[in-house]
Amino acid sequence: MALNLDRPDLLRSNNFIGGQWCSSVVGASYPVCDPATGEAIAIVADSTAADAQAATVAAHQAFDSWRQQPAAVRAQLLKRWHALILEHTEDLARLISREQGKPMSEARGEVAYGASYVDWFAAEAVRSYGDIIPTPVRSKKMLVTKEPVGVVAAITPWNFPLAMIVRKIAPALAAGCTVVAKPAEDTPLTALALVALAEEAGLPAGVLNIVTSSREQVSEVVGAWLDDGRVRKITFTGSTAVGKLLARDSAPTLKRLSLELGGNAPFIVFEDADLDAAVEGLMAAKFRNGGQTCVSPNRVYVQESVYDAFADKLVARVQSLRVGPGDHDDSQIGPMINARAVDKIERHVQDALARGASLLTGGQRLSGGDTNVPNYYAPTVLGDASHEMELSQDETFGPVVPLFRFRDEEEVVDAANDTPYGLAAYFYSRDVTRIWRLAERLQTGLVGINEGALAAESAPFGGVKESGYGREGSRYGLDDYMATKYLCQGNL
Ligand code: NAD
Repeated sequence: MALNLDRPDLLRSNNFIGGQWCSSVVGASYPVCDPATGEAIAIVADSTAADAQAATVAAHQAFDSWRQQPAAVRAQLLKRWHALILEHTEDLARLISREQGKPMSEARGEVAYGASYVDWFAAEAVRSYGDIIPTPVRSKKMLVTKEPVGVVAAITPWNFPLAMIVRKIAPALAAGCTVVAKPAEDTPLTALALVALAEEAGLPAGVLNIVTSSREQVSEVVGAWLDDGRVRKITFTGSTAVGKLLARDSAPTLKRLSLELGGNAPFIVFEDADLDAAVEGLMAAKFRNGGQTCVSPNRVYVQESVYDAFADKLVARVQSLRVGPGDHDDSQIGPMINARAVDKIERHVQDALARGASLLTGGQRLSGGDTNVPNYYAPTVLGDASHEMELSQDETFGPVVPLFRFRDEEEVVDAANDTPYGLAAYFYSRDVTRIWRLAERLQTGLVGINEGALAAESAPFGGVKESGYGREGSRYGLDDYMATKYLCQGNL
């Protein structure tokens, strides 16, 4: 099925380097496929180290003049880009939905959400103040200024093809950094369209560069940036395994790193919670993007006395979810990104059932109706989950809710923290003393308290432990792209 865009020129297939759209140096390409049908939607450049190096040269050359622009000029360009993104919401949403699979309503939401970061950092750019430090002696003046860190390499995952890359590019450009970017191999089309809109907004050549590559080429492309001392920072969102590789391989040139990695979020329902609100919070947090989000609750703990009542309410809600292609108006859960993803979900569910979980609803692959590509998975609730099950150790990244019973607060806090990950945690309770106690004891970067939707451009997003470090959004998000400089002036 053809991809119809109001602006067909937003469907790009080449790299953008130094202000030019160009094919890969060796002329290689690979297909981008619709996860719902397996059909190729477009063919894009399959880059090599030479393409990545060309992007670095362009970003390095553009850096001096970009950093010297007044922050107000950079802000103005970001505002123009923001306006163009919103103006082309429908086309961007079509690209997101088609290459990634999420329903159009969610894809439109992603455009608005991603755009809000551009707007936010346009405003933050002009508020990047320094400090004047009271001096111990009269003969000196001491000042602190902030400077852009330099060329930034941004590497992003497939689950939010627009929001993930914008959350990196916007603060980097606002800070005065220049960027080389590589979107996920499954979802490069939205990122290329965003760059086309940035070009249209008037971003100077070399300030923002993008190269695409297949999974086979990714080590070579990213490796060229890791090895290059001109790239001063890596900002990465993706799996913990790849994050660790980047930390290791960027050590020889001691680059700054921001790592937004995997999670294993606990969602805790206490007996004093508003159960209906907890079910709605879980539905929002769990089933957005078919469960393919890093903050998706992976382990749902319910206190014994309300376990059955909560399970009944949840199953009724989950059974009402409609699964189907992203471009069907009534779809709420689209296809998973690829067959590998469905294999993992299936493995987790089979393992849980073999180890004593009960199947409350779902638990099977779905064909998706008009296609033979079995990339759909039924929204699933499993009861009686336990910690020996694979799904309690590793993120399932799909529409599966495992319910664990717990007795008391002590037990559940220990269980919630018993993971190497520390991105998000959620709990529902109406006991104010418990609320503050738990907010402090949960070892995560984000805590949802009687709330299932956490992310906002004005708030710092990021993890602790093996979920990584660095923050995106808020004023902290700009700091990640700036170096602190201390100036000490003596008397003349
Ligand atoms: P991934 O780590 O496989 O891929 C992420 C990016 O890294 C892609 O661009 C990929 O091409 C690149 N990459 C893969 N192998 C590489 C290598 N050897 N060297 C350099 N780059 C490499 O992750 P994914 O499957 O695309 O995304 C899912 C993961 O991302 C999940 O673990 C999820 O929790 C995490 N995630 C985290 C956040 C967050 O903010 N913390 C947000 C979204 C997704």
